[in-house]
Amino acid sequence: MATTQTKDYYGTLGVKKTATAEEVRKAFRKLARKYHPDVNPGDKKAEEKFKEISEANDVLSDEKKRKIYDQLGFYSDNIDPAAAEAAARGGYGGGGFRGGPYAAGADAATGEVPFDFGGFDFSGFQGGGTTRARGADTGGGFGGSFRDIFSGMFSREQKQRGPQPGTDLEYQVNVDFWSAVRGGVARLEIQRQETCPACKGKTSYGGSMECPECHGTGQVTQMGGRMKFNIQCPRCGGTGKVQNACAHCNGDGLVTKREPLEFRIKAGTRDGQRIRLAGKGNAGLDGGAAGDLYLIIKVGTHPVFARVGDDIHVTVPVTVAEAALGAKIEVPTIDTHDGGGRTQLKIPPGTQTGQKLRLREKGVPSAAREGVRGDEIVEVKIVVPKVQDERSKEILRELAKLNPEDPRTEMFKEV
Ligand SMILES: [Zn+2]
Ligand SMILES: [Zn+2]
Repeated sequence: MATTQTKDYYGTLGVKKTATAEEVRKAFRKLARKYHPDVNPGDKKAEEKFKEISEANDVLSDEKKRKIYDQLGFYSDNIDPAAAEAAARGGYGGGGFRGGPYAAGADAATGEVPFDFGGFDFSGFQGGGTTRARGADTGGGFGGSFRDIFSGMFSREQKQRGPQPGTDLEYQVNVDFWSAVRGGVARLEIQRQETCPACKGKTSYGGSMECPECHGTGQVTQMGGRMKFNIQCPRCGGTGKVQNACAHCNGDGLVTKREPLEFRIKAGTRDGQRIRLAGKGNAGLDGGAAGDLYLIIKVGTHPVFARVGDDIHVTVPVTVAEAALGAKIEVPTIDTHDGGGRTQLKIPPGTQTGQKLRLREKGVPSAAREGVRGDEIVEVKIVVPKVQDERSKEILRELAKLNPEDPRTEMFKEV
């Protein structure tokens, strides 16, 4: 008879054994956000991890289940709390032996099993409602109570009869600054689930086979502390049989495929923009409609230009003389076709640093409104000369004498 592995649920969630229900809930939420299949489309490892944390949460967030787990080092729906209590105490006196997952694992490995309860079958303790037939219809290999959590979270795990819609996919697409401004073509490779060509998404070829978990016995042995328990096989629900899973898709009904995708980037596309490609998400099961593909545009930056909506912001250095006396200067623009990407800008006399000047319709063409352009906003940054020679210093001192007003006077009036 096969022995199932003991699981370290506390370690899986990264919480202490003394963790409160709230701490367990928080740890699970944090991990769930990281490993949720919607966040990691097509990532099998993340999917596995998500199942692990969900299983751990299922047990640790339920006071009754957690107690049994703490007592035995594993949890099964088949085990009556009273039996677990008795087994945890049995022969060991009090709570001295609360076999956690570590202790159980170590004993199992070294084979030190002073008390062998091999024939001690707790399945007789199970409540009437816990007999699970649905385990039999899956080749997926997820244990009993497991699927309960998933049914609400991902449709694929429901394993219900009838069509199920495919899940949506979301991809971030990095678009460089110029492609977003002028438009272009973006290429990326996406990974999506397609209907398995072998079983046509039916997950099996029909017929059943011996359950690989329990080798047809319907029961597996689980270590609880240093005791063995025979429990109902979680994979086949005790029937000893699982449906003949499609070998091509492992009974998923879907296969993961990478495919190139090419799509047009409109001129004026903004950072964070969402593009929806209907029906390009994951395939559905059993004739269910495919999900959608969402492309989230991430626009790259430019060393000189910054985009704020359809406006272009640029900071332009000017000299003290230009700012004080006024000047006509050249500033860079995003238009390279007229004037080589530069245009004239009049700096009015007495311009201060930080002052913003607007160049109308020198911004980005609007992706939403035909023929409309944003503006270019030029922020003036006054550059103070680093004077070295005596003559320049003399001129500045003279300038100070001629203009004795204190620029901080206004500020002190407010204090
Ligand atoms: Zn298949
Ligand atoms: Zn089985």
